[in-house]
Amino acid sequence: MRHVVKKTILDVKPYVPGKPIEEVKRELALKNVIKLASNENPYGPSPKAFEAIQENVRSLNRYPDGDCFYLRRELARRLGVKPRQLIFGNGSDELIVMAVRAFVNDGDEVVMAQPSFLIYEIASRVAGADIQGIPLKDFCYDLPAMKRAVGPKTKIVFLGNPDNPAGRYITQSQMADFLQGIREDVLVFIDEAYFEYVDAPDYVDSIRLIPRHKNIIVARTFSKMYGLAGLRVGYGIADEALVDLLNRIREPFNVNSLAQAAALACLKDQAYYRKIARRVKAQREFLYLNLRKLGLSLIETHTNFILINVGQDATGVSDRLMKKGIIVRDMSSWGLRHFIRVTIGTETENKKFISVLRNIL
Ligand SMILES: *Cc1c(COP(=O)(O)O)cnc(C)c1O
Repeated sequence: MRHVVKKTILDVKPYVPGKPIEEVKRELALKNVIKLASNENPYGPSPKAFEAIQENVRSLNRYPDGDCFYLRRELARRLGVKPRQLIFGNGSDELIVMAVRAFVNDGDEVVMAQPSFLIYEIASRVAGADIQGIPLKDFCYDLPAMKRAVGPKTKIVFLGNPDNPAGRYITQSQMADFLQGIREDVLVFIDEAYFEYVDAPDYVDSIRLIPRHKNIIVARTFSKMYGLAGLRVGYGIADEALVDLLNRIREPFNVNSLAQAAALACLKDQAYYRKIARRVKAQREFLYLNLRKLGLSLIETHTNFILINVGQDATGVSDRLMKKGIIVRDMSSWGLRHFIRVTIGTETENKKFISVLRNIL
């Protein structure tokens, strides 16, 4: 098969997700396993999501609404955009893939930070793009360098805001400087998977940039704060003409009916998510304090994960944590040899993590 598959696929390293809890239990014969590897919401979604799923489960023989009518209407109202400015995906991963499919030809260039979310690179490589990976500067995006990297062949720039894996954000004025003079035929893909966690006053309000910058798409997801990672719903916000282009390559039933119902119910329960945000913030402080007590340095984050310098080979530390039933992300393969990325868990999970980490180090 190797000789018939598209040449670009041979260069792609498969995405390695955080190990599922059940797999670690099975492989290491452990009873209790904590997963802090995929930035999920450990408290689960709003209880309203379960009710919505119950109500819709009887219609599983029917195709979902390919247009996501109710979810679209509710989100458009909340965001202050037109319903036709929204596009839905099977997770926001699918929006990344759709954008690349729509814009990138063999030999084009895609600009991204190095390291950044792996799907940007995987999707771009499959399309045959050359990757311009711009190193982080003090763990922040080097936006001036990223802008200089935009050349005549550039089709997309990926901006994670906040980014994964460092958890830093782009301010209003940094974004304005970046967009100033960027060609209109370059798609600026702003990935806001952790949008709901940010409370910095100077965080860019990217949706308000769309009327002036019709080449922006803002992607968000129900997988992180909203706690619906298993159902797969994400959405993009962009100018109607751009949404119309992406819709041409969208699979007609890409968001399933239970996902649509659950996402809608979650949106209507903001009180629940305010509570989650407060808990995560408190637990973030708990982890900062205790990691620093262990003499570790970390990158201050605006998300529900923390990039931690463990001061030694991260693969060794991750493996030892795994043997004690704690799954974290080893960042070695992202070029960060001494770093692990840890999701902010519940109080119990974080205490366990700190105590096991103390023993290991
Ligand atoms: C988790 C994540 C996503 C996508 O998640 P979906 O589950 O596909 O919506 C996108 N971008 C970043 C940076 C992420 O961390």
